[in-house]
Amino acid sequence: MSSSNFPTSPASPEVVIIGAGLSGLACALELINHGVSVQILEKDDAPGGRVRTDSIDGFLLDRGFQVYLDAYPSAGQLLDVEALDLRKFEPGAIIFEKGERHRLMDVFRRPTSIISSAFSPIGNILDKALVAKLRFSLQFSSLEKIQQREDLTTETYLRKFGFSDDMIDRFFRSFYGGIFLENQLQTSSRMFEFTFKMFTAGSATLPARGMEEIPRQLAAQLPDHVLHCDTPVSKIEGKEVITESGEKLTPDYLVLAVPSDAAQKMLPSLNLPELKWRSVTNCYFAAANSPLNEAIIALSGSPGSLINNVSVPSDLSPEYAPEGQALISVSILGIHDEPDFLTNVLSELRSWFGEDVTTWRHLRTDRIERALPEQTPSSKRPVCDLAGIYLCGDQQTTTSIEGAIISGQDTAKQILKLR
Ligand SMILES: Cc1cc2nc3c(=O)[nH]c(=O)nc-3n(C[C@H](O)[C@H](O)[C@H](O)COP(=O)(O)OP(=O)(O)OC[C@H]3O[C@@H](n4cnc5c(N)ncnc54)[C@H](O)[C@@H]3O)c2cc1C
Repeated sequence: MSSSNFPTSPASPEVVIIGAGLSGLACALELINHGVSVQILEKDDAPGGRVRTDSIDGFLLDRGFQVYLDAYPSAGQLLDVEALDLRKFEPGAIIFEKGERHRLMDVFRRPTSIISSAFSPIGNILDKALVAKLRFSLQFSSLEKIQQREDLTTETYLRKFGFSDDMIDRFFRSFYGGIFLENQLQTSSRMFEFTFKMFTAGSATLPARGMEEIPRQLAAQLPDHVLHCDTPVSKIEGKEVITESGEKLTPDYLVLAVPSDAAQKMLPSLNLPELKWRSVTNCYFAAANSPLNEAIIALSGSPGSLINNVSVPSDLSPEYAPEGQALISVSILGIHDEPDFLTNVLSELRSWFGEDVTTWRHLRTDRIERALPEQTPSSKRPVCDLAGIYLCGDQQTTTSIEGAIISGQDTAKQILKLR
C-alpha cells in the first residue's frame, strides 16, 4: 500500500475504485484476477472502511462490536477462512433481566440445552416451536429467493409469523436490535430472513486477531502500487477523479465503493436519495476476570435498558487482551454523549454482574454515527445512471460483510461484461 508513489503506472488505469472498504477490495480483486488495471484511492490510513481494529496497550479494540458469520457464502469463498482462525460464539444468548440470567440456545446445535431453553421464561412453547419452523423454512430458501420475498418491517413479519409480544420484546428486539442497530424492528424482513438463515446455518465468529484481519487479508492479495491510502477524493468531473491534493486520474470506468452520501458529495449530479444511518456507541472495559467466562453474547431482556449487548472477545481469543486480563465490549444503540452516560452504563452493568464491575477499567468509547445504512422496506436503493460510473457497497445489497463483498464482485462483473 502506498500514497507516496501516486500516480503510478499506468497513470490512468482502466478502473479507478474510490474506497477500500470490503466492497472496494472485493471489486478490485475480481477485476485484477481478470487482467484489468486498477487503482484504489482510500481516504483513511489503511483499508477496511467500517471494519477496523486498533491495537492499544495489548488490547485489540474492534471499531464497534461486529461479528463474521461463517455461513456467509460469497465471503467464505473469497477469504482464506482457515488463516483468519475464526473463534466461534456459542449459538444462542444469555438474557439478563431483573437480576436474573436466562439461557436461550439454538437447541438444534446444542441439544443438551433443550431443557433450559424450553423452560426459560423468554417466550412460550409456541414461540419455541415457531423458531424451529422458521429455521426449517429458511433452510430451503436461497438468498436470491429471500431478496424477492414480500418486504415488511421485521416487527410485522414476526407478528404475522405468530410470535408472541413477549418473545418479540424480550428476545428479538434485543438480539436483532444488536444486528440492525435499532430495536423498533423497522428493518426489512428480507434482512431479517438473511441474517436468521446465516445465524442458524453457521456461527457468529471473531477472527483471532481482530475483525480487521478480514480486509487486511484481502488487501494483502493486491499487487503492489494498486492501493493508495491517505488519498481522499474531493470531486469527480465527468469521469475525471480529483484527489484532495490535486492529483487527477481519468479511468475508463469509475467505481464509487463508498456510502451513497459520500458519492453524492463527490459527484452532486448523481441526485441520490438521502442516506439515513443507524448508529451505535461501544464501550470497552478491562477486567481481571471475564464476567461471562464463555464465548457467548449477553443481551438485555428489559425493553427500557440502556445496554443492548455485552460480550467478552478475550473469552473467544486470548489475543484480544494482555495475559491475565479480560476485554469486555458493551454496545448501546444510538449515539450517547450525555455527561452521565458512562455512570449509567456502569450502574446497569452492576445490576448484571455485581460489584466486580466497580473494579473494571474503562478503555475507550467509540461513537459510530455512520455504522449501518438504514434498510427499511421503504429505503430506496441508490442508482447511478451515468455511463461508466458504478455505485458499490453494502447499501446496494444487504448491510453486512457478505453484502459488501457481493456488491463489489457484482460491480466488477458488470464492468467485465462491457470491456
Ligand atoms: C458497528 C458496526 C457493526 C457491524 N456489525 C456487523 C456484523 O456483525 N456483521 C456484518 O456482516 N456486518 C456488520 N457491519 C456492517 C459491515 O461492516 C459493512 O456492511 C461493511 O463493512 C461495508 O463495507 P463497504 O465497502 O460497503 O463500505 P465502507 O466500509 O464504508 O467502505 C467505504 C470506504 O470508502 C472510503 N471513502 C469514503 N469517502 C472517500 C473519499 N472521498 N475518498 C476516498 N475514500 C473514501 C472510506 O474511508 C471507506 O474505507 C457492521 C458495521 C458497523 C460499523
